[in-house]
Amino acid sequence: MSDGLTFLAVHAHPDDEASSTGGVFRQLANEGVRTVLVTCTNGEFGDSPDGAKPSEDHHDGDEVAKVRAVELEDAVRILGIDRLVRLGYRDSGMKGWPQNDDPESFWSTPVDVAAARLAAILTEERPQVVMTYNAIGFYGHPDHIQAHRITLAALELIDYEPTLYFNAIPDSVMARYRERWALEERERREADAARGVIREPEVRDPDEEEINMGTPDDLIDVTIDITDVTNAKYDALAAHRSQMRDSFWMKMGREQFAQVMGTEWFVRATNPRGLSGHVTDIFAGYR
Ligand SMILES: [Zn+2]
Repeated sequence: MSDGLTFLAVHAHPDDEASSTGGVFRQLANEGVRTVLVTCTNGEFGDSPDGAKPSEDHHDGDEVAKVRAVELEDAVRILGIDRLVRLGYRDSGMKGWPQNDDPESFWSTPVDVAAARLAAILTEERPQVVMTYNAIGFYGHPDHIQAHRITLAALELIDYEPTLYFNAIPDSVMARYRERWALEERERREADAARGVIREPEVRDPDEEEINMGTPDDLIDVTIDITDVTNAKYDALAAHRSQMRDSFWMKMGREQFAQVMGTEWFVRATNPRGLSGHVTDIFAGYR
């Protein structure tokens, strides 16, 4: 039974809805659950359609945002999302970038101001299940951290308690991804060497702590098998054309993606239904 069920996800940028919840969104839509996506920023500091990075001179954030707005609409259609709400904040860029301090950036926006807007949406939609990122924003991006903060603050402003989940990747899976990234890096180096190209080794900021994106396997509360909708998830990611050029998902290709990316994981942050143990349905306790 899906009558009256609503799912709402609070994401930072266009494309985050596809990467961490593409499978869940499509499956819930297939089941007749109402789905709502709140996208906090316009993603000004993604790549340009020509691949330019934000540090490059001709990178134009407003143009990037325009392109990404259309891409997001495509992804929303592919995932069957019923309602998209754009909070319209300016992308804050990565941690330490000067864009963090732009008064229009999401990061500079007072939490209570953005939380009040989100609370109004929650009050209107009354989702039983809400999803966002953990306190480190899953991987440390200021906009993801801010999405976490405004979601927690918004839940304090509404008159009921939904079940809140954070997306997660188990440590065991993270280890496999790291192997894969190391392999890709080695292949890239070898290909460069074969062409006589010598690349400067990447210099890491010594002050920058390495963020562990993994969650211990035994702390995962929800494991969702999305193998029936991996094509839609792949298509939704691919819809974010300007951002996916070099992504590891697109490099996999559709078939391998289906084999490797057939699961989404979540950690429970609030538990009004008193659930215990591991579940395989994000609406456990509600149907
Ligand atoms: Zn993001």
